[in-house]
Amino acid sequence: MKNTYTENLIATVIDYSESNNWESAVTEWEIYDCEEDESNSETCICGKENIRYLYTIRNILNGNELFPIGSSCIKKFNRTDFNEEISLTESMFKLLHAVEDNRYISLSSDLFSRKLLKWLYEQEAFDTQYNNFDGDEDYEFMLKMFNKRDKSSITINQDKKIKAILLNSIKPFLLEKLSCKIREPYMYF
Ligand SMILES: [Zn+2]
Repeated sequence: MKNTYTENLIATVIDYSESNNWESAVTEWEIYDCEEDESNSETCICGKENIRYLYTIRNILNGNELFPIGSSCIKKFNRTDFNEEISLTESMFKLLHAVEDNRYISLSSDLFSRKLLKWLYEQEAFDTQYNNFDGDEDYEFMLKMFNKRDKSSITINQDKKIKAILLNSIKPFLLEKLSCKIREPYMYF
């Protein structure tokens, strides 16, 4: 039996789709944007409260938009491309926070993946003035370090280079891409 949240999701999506059945309606949509709400104060279109990642999805046939929709509802579309996109998007937000808090000591797999590194490379995140805007070597280096099974074999100099790349290339890239998409909790003084 389906729960109410799922029923709400299906009804809303079908309502804004051209098709009137779920299997076909889910193919009409694309992920358009994502914001992170650090105060978890928003409610998904399905009615579920306190979602953190606020996605906007857009219907490619009629231009309808739905917002905010949370990751677990997007996963219910059962689309591989959506699942990859949300995993990439959320890993970018997590990486940015980790770099901002100086929690980037190791290239651990809870923050990094081959996919994320490759995507950053494709987005030219490794290209900076420090490497004459040619990030190939830095990318290869980061990949090599990430692929090391035994991270304790990373030397002090390699570790310094990892941090330099994260601070000089990746952090500014993520900040530019994401900072306008982060809603910080309201502060009262
Ligand atoms: Zn939902």
